[in-house]
Amino acid sequence: MALVVQKYGGTSVADLDRIRDVATNVARIYDEGNDVVVVLSAMAGVTDQLIELAMRITEEPNRRELDVLLATGEQTTVALLCIMLEAMGYTAASLLGYQAEIVTDRAFGRARIVDIRVDRVKELLADKAIVAIAGFQGRDAQGNITTLGRGGSDTSAVALAAALKADVCEIYTDVDGVYTTDPNICNTARKLGRISYDEMLEMASLGARVLQIRAVEFAKKFKVPVHVRSSFKPQEEGTMVVEEEKDMERLVVSGITYSKDDARITITKVPDRPGVASRIFTPIGEAGIVVDMIIQNTRKGGLTDITFTVPKSDYQKAMGLQEKIAEEIGAEQVLGDKHIAKVSVVGVGMRSHSGVAATMFGALAKENINIMMISTSEIKISCVIEEKYTELAVRVLHNAFDLNHV
Ligand code: ADP
Ligand code: ASP
Ligand code: MG
Repeated sequence: MALVVQKYGGTSVADLDRIRDVATNVARIYDEGNDVVVVLSAMAGVTDQLIELAMRITEEPNRRELDVLLATGEQTTVALLCIMLEAMGYTAASLLGYQAEIVTDRAFGRARIVDIRVDRVKELLADKAIVAIAGFQGRDAQGNITTLGRGGSDTSAVALAAALKADVCEIYTDVDGVYTTDPNICNTARKLGRISYDEMLEMASLGARVLQIRAVEFAKKFKVPVHVRSSFKPQEEGTMVVEEEKDMERLVVSGITYSKDDARITITKVPDRPGVASRIFTPIGEAGIVVDMIIQNTRKGGLTDITFTVPKSDYQKAMGLQEKIAEEIGAEQVLGDKHIAKVSVVGVGMRSHSGVAATMFGALAKENINIMMISTSEIKISCVIEEKYTELAVRVLHNAFDLNHV
């Protein structure tokens, strides 16, 4: 007998037929003698619709109230699953984030889990109930409803699995595992049997939305084995996300990712003197905007251009701040571009291989794709390119690093 935490994403609970399939799978695992905790997302598209409703009132909805609104999506699905399970003759109980005592900080819209008190869940499991917990939500110390950021149900599931010391955390989604790149844009993508936490961390942080990055951070920290698999083919093995093992496939590059979530801002002809970078980035940081890449190009005559990327959702705010600062520091102008994408190659094997950057740049050059920015770490290289070339770049890189399935 095991304690299994399962999470089902939006497409997996998109309508009553899909919820029935989820209930059947949950019941099967329960009937095998396991304790089952189910974490659910909202029905596909619902979170977007709720955001849109609020945005119709104002572009900057009150963040506390927006979280109250968004949390309703997951409330619907846990209730429906439990009604379904009860109708099938099982004992089931739903819990909202606060009822499951998922305690977070107060950062509405991107809250971090700080504590989970699992007593109530354990009591319900001891009474032989199937427990369904609303993903993506928690409560802060004062009892305010918070949400964990887009894709946050993954994090709810892994954090619960860690707190409950579950034997496995199964992430059921609309693809049957983690692939060498997004299988929906590259049909030669190959499913990985296993992937290390570190590689999955990089892939998640660089746009592979199959797992939310914080979910992988929790999994790594608490050594939770995560099994990414398909809710359409629940009996088939998916991908295990685990600690790096000696016999793991040691490809130089194990995956290609892309993200269209960022925008680029350039401040031209900035006086090149100590303190300007701090003047530019301090207000951005104070506004809670996370800067990703930064480059600085020196011009002649003591002037420099500074370019950086911010999340598209913070673009307007960042542009507003920079226009003010540019004037104060005597820079020429602020240019912005929302139509960019970041493509990245990821792999732990890069630590001990040279030539990866050359292969990447060469493959993009061959297709005439211009590289606007570059950043590297020990196990990844990222390039910013024009958004319209994203899919082409992903396929070209997938091919250049021999990742195609055989
Ligand atoms: P869910 O609603 O189940 O949480 P998501 O849409 O958040 O599902 O994540 C699954 C999607 O992630 C897939 O449909 C796929 O398009 C995308 N994806 C991106 N990169 C990868 C990858 N390397 N492997 C698998 N899926 C990926
Ligand atoms: N429903 C939330 C979202 O769409 C959380 C999730 O699906 O994981 O982002
Ligand atoms: Mg998701």
